[in-house]
Amino acid sequence: MRSLAPESLMMSYGYHPEWSEGAVKCPIFQTSTFVFKSAREGKEFFEIAYGKREKSPGEQPGLIYSRLNNPDLQILEERLTLWDGADECAVFESGMSAISTVLLEFLRPGDALLYSKPVYGGTDHFINKVLPQYQIQGVGFTNFMDEESLMTLAEGKKIRLIYVETPANPTNALFDLQLCRKVADRLSTPENPVYVVVDNTYMGPLWQHPLKLGADLVVYSATKYIGGHSDLIAGAVLGRSELMVRVRTLRTFLGNMAGPWTGWLLMRSLETLKVRMTQQAQNAEKVANFLRNHPKVSKVYYLGHLEENDPQYEIFKRQLSCAGAMVSFDVIGGEDAAFRFLDGLKLFKLAVSLGSTESLAEHPATMTHSDVDEQDRAEIGISENLVRLSIGVEYFEDLIWDISQALDQV
Ligand SMILES: *Cc1c(COP(=O)(O)O)cnc(C)c1O
Repeated sequence: MRSLAPESLMMSYGYHPEWSEGAVKCPIFQTSTFVFKSAREGKEFFEIAYGKREKSPGEQPGLIYSRLNNPDLQILEERLTLWDGADECAVFESGMSAISTVLLEFLRPGDALLYSKPVYGGTDHFINKVLPQYQIQGVGFTNFMDEESLMTLAEGKKIRLIYVETPANPTNALFDLQLCRKVADRLSTPENPVYVVVDNTYMGPLWQHPLKLGADLVVYSATKYIGGHSDLIAGAVLGRSELMVRVRTLRTFLGNMAGPWTGWLLMRSLETLKVRMTQQAQNAEKVANFLRNHPKVSKVYYLGHLEENDPQYEIFKRQLSCAGAMVSFDVIGGEDAAFRFLDGLKLFKLAVSLGSTESLAEHPATMTHSDVDEQDRAEIGISENLVRLSIGVEYFEDLIWDISQALDQV
């Protein structure tokens, strides 16, 4: 049998119609609990679920209770592993629950983590406001720091995780995952391995595969490209089995898994993931090129415009297969101008979030990144002029018409 591409498998992988009266699609298993065929079977299922013994070869985890597993989650998780080449996946009720579960599982009081700046606002809040209450310290680094600067930052701290978001939101700054891997290996000891965790929401699962670039775990807000229709909140974690057992176990006891309805919606979304994202990236290129030549725009942040002599270009070539569908730009004229642009849009929706079929626009300095420390904001280029666009699947000429007429009102 030929080895099939993920997009060819998204309609069927992991599901057998004979399980469900021949239904071509996996139904919604809207049930809290599952009937065992016998008491012995129930005992065996629990032994596996609670890690009392290893699975024997070919043994599948049995269905017990929907906080532990449910077909809509399990099949979805199997399908998600195909894009990233992961052993296992666990789906959560939000991106934040996926991220906070990973941080809680792999950090202990007295530990520290290195994290890339800027990270998503919720992640930043969890690292800087919640983890310190458990004596865990976050140490931020920017993408202009080299290996030795990271080693200096780590000095005297018990670093257990390196947490990276690349490309960074909203400026598309790239972090070098090879460098993060090197630093993690230098800081690791046999008793205390240092893991690299990558938030791949911006580019994944199609255009960047961090597990193949040295990461130990990948996290997603599945609310974004994976869901892709602005109609659900979900998250995912992927990695090798040894680490995923720990993530899944904490999920069981925090009880923050996604429900069957969300699982079903995400399976439906995955069928069109590649066509959606491909169209979005094509549209983004057209929009970015239009913005680059516009007299009211002073700078465009788009990965497809990186110059070959830019050190970021080297990282782009190594880590990404596409420039993506997120485009930010500076409007000449500060906050007033940016707001006139945003209020003038007719087709783009003025909303946070990203990765959906419809195009969205927002103002990072006063919206998604308003909580970021002012000095950090200046350092990473989040100015009053900056507008972030998430490009959707509309006809590109309509998107350009909308941007053009809104810029006329600036
Ligand atoms: C949205 C987002 C999150 C948080 O995900 P939720 O699904 O909203 O909880 C985390 N990281 C990134 C990069 C995001 O864009």
